[in-house]
Amino acid sequence: MRLRFWGTRGSIATPGRGTNHFGGNTSCIELTSDSGAHVIMDCGTGARLLGNQLIANTAGPISAAILFTHTHWDHIQGFPFFAPLFVPGNHFTVYGPEGSHLSLHDVLSGQMEHHYFPVELSQLAARIAYQDLSEGIHEISGTKICAQSMNHPSPTLGYRIEAHGVSVLYLSDHEPFYEGVWRHGVEPGRLESIREGGDRRHAEYMRDADLVIHESQYTPEEYPAKKNWGHSTFAYVVELAVAARVRRLFLTHHDPSHDDLFIENIEQRARKLAKDLGSNMEVSCAYEGCEIEI
Ligand SMILES: [Zn+2]
Ligand SMILES: [Zn+2]
Repeated sequence: MRLRFWGTRGSIATPGRGTNHFGGNTSCIELTSDSGAHVIMDCGTGARLLGNQLIANTAGPISAAILFTHTHWDHIQGFPFFAPLFVPGNHFTVYGPEGSHLSLHDVLSGQMEHHYFPVELSQLAARIAYQDLSEGIHEISGTKICAQSMNHPSPTLGYRIEAHGVSVLYLSDHEPFYEGVWRHGVEPGRLESIREGGDRRHAEYMRDADLVIHESQYTPEEYPAKKNWGHSTFAYVVELAVAARVRRLFLTHHDPSHDDLFIENIEQRARKLAKDLGSNMEVSCAYEGCEIEI
């Protein structure tokens, strides 16, 4: 499998000199595999650049699965700017979590209503199918994908993708169920030591994964003022990933107030925490243009 980050920012696009390295575009990741899977995960503003590149480099019709974790702006705003949707002959199946009072189709259509955007969803020339997803195992783009609910103010799914003997998870957006991961008086760093059932289930979902891409919008110092906004700290993510024996961890969905220096510092702190917990897990902060082969 190959992955490329087209957008790593959370909440709102953040262009400017201070974000040149980690990037200013909101969430978008492209996954391709040798067996022909082509999955686009979230369409934040990064999807615009991905769409342009696909058109420039694809000879025939473009076909892909688009997998939304949820429909907050920073995950869907690039969808109307994804140029392959405007080309007849292209084909997309669009997936997102069920459970809100509107279907995925109606939510995406809403952001293209004429008050917000000049072209309506129904005017897109590509063939587009929509499918609302529940928790569980799904066959998408010839690949087994296990969806599990995240702890977020809107219905949100994480995705565990299994192919060619490797497992990749994309988990965004998600907030800890409980402040403080470990039970008192037990050895930290193990799944059984996680205090809250929801957090333990979240960690078990990541168990033995080759790669986890997880949002980590805040530092532990920032978190108390942002409680219930639906996001994690890097410390929570590292602690759970270590307990789950994850091999490589990429932190993403960077807060708009964090410039490159700040995110570099988060990366160093996250690596030190993993080491202090006795893990040799690789930890990186995702940057725009970052490619991973796994
Ligand atoms: Zn988000
Ligand atoms: Zn969100």
